[in-house]
Amino acid sequence: MSLAALGIDVGSTATKLVGVTPEGEIAWQKLVPTAPRIEAQAEALLGEARAAAGGGAPPVVATGYGRKLVPGAGRVLTEITCHARGVYRRTGRAGTLVDIGGQDSKVILIGPGGQVQHFVMNDKCAAGTGRFLEVTAGRLQLQVADMGATALAGAGEVPISSTCTVFAESEIVSLLARGAPVEHVVRGLHRALTQRVTSLVRSLGPRPPYFLSGGVAHNRAVAAFLAEALGAPVETVGEPQLMGAYGAALAGLDA
Ligand code: ADP
Repeated sequence: MSLAALGIDVGSTATKLVGVTPEGEIAWQKLVPTAPRIEAQAEALLGEARAAAGGGAPPVVATGYGRKLVPGAGRVLTEITCHARGVYRRTGRAGTLVDIGGQDSKVILIGPGGQVQHFVMNDKCAAGTGRFLEVTAGRLQLQVADMGATALAGAGEVPISSTCTVFAESEIVSLLARGAPVEHVVRGLHRALTQRVTSLVRSLGPRPPYFLSGGVAHNRAVAAFLAEALGAPVETVGEPQLMGAYGAALAGLDA
């Protein structure tokens, strides 16, 4: 296999690697939970990627929260730059990218040539991130991957008033004890998460079309509720969780 460049996105929750062809198509990919020993994990994963590349030494570009700990990375770029690049390559359009990861969420304005015009980030509060759904799924004994479908299955909705993940968890316990159906609670949780992300989008000013990336983009209820709140369609990009690593790999092709 001919991999012309490798991108590695060491996220707070998941580490993603992408290998691209000289034309910039994804030819190899890997996604694993981020280990506590980032350097050792990144080194092993890059070894796997190089083996898949046929033993060559393609350039490596690192991004993500642990990007500075990747041994042998020729360049280090922010997630903002890399997500925007990956998504622009996929969509070819300017607009607003919403990236919801495991422990932060970002809104990025992508200009007509794919450049980052502006961005805002929430990395202070877990309530607008994947962590919110992970913690609450645990409390409800649901799989994170099933949360979206559960929310969409609920006809009713129980509002969640807590603005903090830890308090939301206690609120769930008391709602269930009062007989609230699980589906209604899950729907309320998704509403709470998307309201927070919507405020972040609004802080930059509405600039459709809207694109969604990051691991939480796999959750269909998040995309649906965001579209409802923004009053415009929200497009989940293909392979949304890989967009940071993809953008990094594309940057590796720049000679
Ligand atoms: P980071 O870069 O911060 O590690 P990611 O963009 O990799 O974050 O996204 C991780 C988040 O995506 C986690 O909170 C995880 O629960 C969520 N996630 C991953 N796959 C799914 C899925 N199939 N359905 C819902 N959420 C998912």
